[in-house]
Amino acid sequence: MSGVGGPPLARRMAELGRGMARYPGLEAAQWMAPERLQDLQWQRLRRVVQHAATHSPLYRRRFAQAGIRPEDIRTPEDFRQLPPTTRDDLRAPGELLAEGFPEDRLRRSTTSGSTGRRTTSYFDERAWVLSKYLLKLRARRACGLQPWHRVALFQEDGSAATQVPSHKRSHAFSIHRPIAEILPAAERFAAHAYYGFPGYFVQLAQAAQGRLRPRMIFTSGELLDPFTRRAIEEGFQAPVFDVYGCTEVKEVAWECPAHAGHHLNADWVMLEIDPPGAAGKVLLTPLYNRAMPLLRYVVGDTGMLLPGRCACGRGLPLIRPTLGRSVDYLRLPGGTTLAPYSLTCAIEDIEGMRQYQFVQTEPARLLLRVVPRDDFGAHSEAALRQALAPVVPGVEVAIERVQEIPPERSGKYRIVQSCLPPDRPVT
Ligand SMILES: [Zn+2]
Repeated sequence: MSGVGGPPLARRMAELGRGMARYPGLEAAQWMAPERLQDLQWQRLRRVVQHAATHSPLYRRRFAQAGIRPEDIRTPEDFRQLPPTTRDDLRAPGELLAEGFPEDRLRRSTTSGSTGRRTTSYFDERAWVLSKYLLKLRARRACGLQPWHRVALFQEDGSAATQVPSHKRSHAFSIHRPIAEILPAAERFAAHAYYGFPGYFVQLAQAAQGRLRPRMIFTSGELLDPFTRRAIEEGFQAPVFDVYGCTEVKEVAWECPAHAGHHLNADWVMLEIDPPGAAGKVLLTPLYNRAMPLLRYVVGDTGMLLPGRCACGRGLPLIRPTLGRSVDYLRLPGGTTLAPYSLTCAIEDIEGMRQYQFVQTEPARLLLRVVPRDDFGAHSEAALRQALAPVVPGVEVAIERVQEIPPERSGKYRIVQSCLPPDRPVT
């Protein structure tokens, strides 16, 4: 996570002004026909490939080892022959940095480390303005956010104050502070829009009991299952728009008011699903970052491309990115794997829960922690077991009622968590 309040407003506005002038086609690109967008994406991709193969030590080596020249990449099929870039490659960012982009002149973002080792990504100024401000602005405007709206960010941060100056348009609240302390400050600030992790908003809505009235809520960073979405929307009486992104690439895809999936920023990000044609691993190639080019980056999430075009009329393709992080797939006895989404979908209509979490403790044992509402009873437990039995055959499901589900150290909630060692075979 980077930049809590961002740079001072004046500087940010100047950056935005310059950025807008540099990308006059950004607003229009989202409405282009899908074929034209594909052409635009391909032209930009070819330039990125050429740049990486020429100026980045790692890619220069990879191309030489594979015996491929950048001009050999003539079709998307050719591009898929390139070896993917992994998180391990990011451990030596100096190898990725392109010549002519000295590290001390670049913007940087560091991962929170919740998935293991921390890594740092570098951005040149143009890439930073485009990915950190302009693409986000395009998406938020599509959802109704206006320049004069006040925005509350609920995020990881130790320094966020609860005293909010009334003239500020945006304010960061630390999710590590007790909610009882955050509530009055958030109520006074009266933001139009909220940003944060879904699991946190479930807790906040519950504690607020109608005292907080945002007009819209933007979620990211965690799997947003239908159950959690409904809990947030009912709690705040406001629509939820989910955003998919990562530290290394920034914003990748976002929901518009039609809620038909997440619109991929296809003009500036190439997304592949491996294997193609079904749900699989997400590979990303940002098309703007000349400082630290990334080709076919395996980000550690899974997702799928959705067929058809959104009712809103945008040509940006639709994806469903949040089938869960690869590490949270359950491995069942017999060797099959199960996406977190299958579990959350199975129980989405069961009433009586405020929040829940699945933990796979043993290959054939699944613990379901439930923060119950008053109407949660034996019938709810029976319904849960009945709904889960066909999804996890041969697995014993234990249901535990708890007062609360604590977040991880990062402040994120993991709805589905596997405690099995990643490489241990399940028999
Ligand atoms: Zn749409």
